[in-house]
Amino acid sequence: MNGKLYIGGKFSAATDGATFDVVNPYNLKKIGEQAAATKVDVVRAIDFAESGFAALKALTAHRRADLLRKLYTAMLANEREIAQTMTEEQGKPLKEAIGEVRYAASYVQWYAEEGIRVQGDILAPSSSKMRLHVLREPVGPVALITPWNFPLAMMVRKLAPAIAAGCSVIAKPAGQTPFTAVKFFELIDQVGFPEGSCQLLTGSAAMIGEALLDDFRIRKLSFTGSTEVGKMLAQKSAATLKRVSMELGGHAPLIIFSDADIKKAVKGAVLSKYLNSGQACIASNRLYVHAAIKADFVAALSESVRGLKEGNGMENADIGPIIDQNAYQKIALHVDDALAKGGKVLTGGRGYRAADGAGGYLYPATLLDDVDDEMLIVNEETFGPVLPILTFEDDDDVIRRANATPYGLAAYAYTESLTRATKVMEGLEFGMIGINTPGLGAVQTPFGGVKMSGYGREGGKYGIEEYLQTKVVNIGL
Ligand code: NAP
Repeated sequence: MNGKLYIGGKFSAATDGATFDVVNPYNLKKIGEQAAATKVDVVRAIDFAESGFAALKALTAHRRADLLRKLYTAMLANEREIAQTMTEEQGKPLKEAIGEVRYAASYVQWYAEEGIRVQGDILAPSSSKMRLHVLREPVGPVALITPWNFPLAMMVRKLAPAIAAGCSVIAKPAGQTPFTAVKFFELIDQVGFPEGSCQLLTGSAAMIGEALLDDFRIRKLSFTGSTEVGKMLAQKSAATLKRVSMELGGHAPLIIFSDADIKKAVKGAVLSKYLNSGQACIASNRLYVHAAIKADFVAALSESVRGLKEGNGMENADIGPIIDQNAYQKIALHVDDALAKGGKVLTGGRGYRAADGAGGYLYPATLLDDVDDEMLIVNEETFGPVLPILTFEDDDDVIRRANATPYGLAAYAYTESLTRATKVMEGLEFGMIGINTPGLGAVQTPFGGVKMSGYGREGGKYGIEEYLQTKVVNIGL
């Protein structure tokens, strides 16, 4: 594949023709080249986003909804092609990639509806000679910077509410996964949004990020990625006082209480940990099980985890490759650290290169026992298919341990007791809590974190608020 930039309603090469290679993380073979934008391209994209904003804002919300509905239909009609591209460049199993396309499309469908429900107010004045109006307006052109782990969903969760609200966008996907975004933009191109509504920039993250953030005309940044990069981008955005949303890293606890339904809890633990090879911000990163049921629970969980097979996402593996060597080394470091400090492997345990010579990095689904609170894996985001098991005896104590992290994105608990569930719901300091379910990303709900996991929400009626600002108009009669 030969991926281009998308600026002002047209696909184009970079002004200097530069490209970068995109590789398949399973076999490390080059799968194509993607245009690497120059500063001139970025400025051109901002110019078009400025005119595109005026054009998009001038449309009625109903017209924008019509266009989003067309986009939704096109995404579903092309789901297999997009999913294959995603698996090729990101590695996740094809069935998960198809699920991601459908998930992303559900946000387009939702915001086609949500956009037409944006409402202002007319307030009762204190003088008969005044009229008071509150308008809700789009914030302006927005920059969207997204990661490689869910290359379509993370972008679409931002783009759909932005367009519904009337904001033009400049999207910057991750360097490892630009082709999924190009495929998506081919559909955007077909739908016929006004020129300049949506731009796609790829290339040097530092240069593109800086050029977008330095420009006053970009009025908002919506970022999903690591806490480290997010903090830096938030600081840069302060110079032009952009609105900022930050969807950052996590370190999710999963608590199995003594009265949990073990079958349900095992199923939930497997889904919340091993989906996307554990490369998910909401993946459970540490499991606390009550001592009284530990033996039964761990036996059932080990059996389930042993059934997961790592390999090529195109060939029905359950666990695809790790995205790159750095990510792989971080997982290996966490496992080595745990083993050196007394941890024990129950299943899996050691990563390796894929069979064919220059192969990518595979890590088997791994369970670690005898883990304690001091180990790296209990304190840092692992982003891989390794689940450490810790034990607890006291409910209040486990809630305290679960909260002992600077992150606050997602947390899970399994209990059949309403009292315990309520304690967990109120006691855990996280933006999203799953009780007896690993499912946290429903389109209706506000997705996002607290503490070092960021601020801002995506999804439901909450997501569109991020792209709207308030204007008061007082009229004297
Ligand atoms: P990352 O390194 O922070 O990269 C994310 C995006 O930021 C990529 O597009 C990257 O571009 C770009 N970027 C990097 N440096 C930049 C700079 N100096 N200026 C502007 N942009 C820059 O994160 P990642 O490793 O790809 O993603 C994994 C992280 O994302 C994890 O921590 C995960 O928890 C988090 N995440 C959070 C959520 C959520 O909703 N809270 C969802 C998914 C993932 P390049 O790829 O070109 O470098």
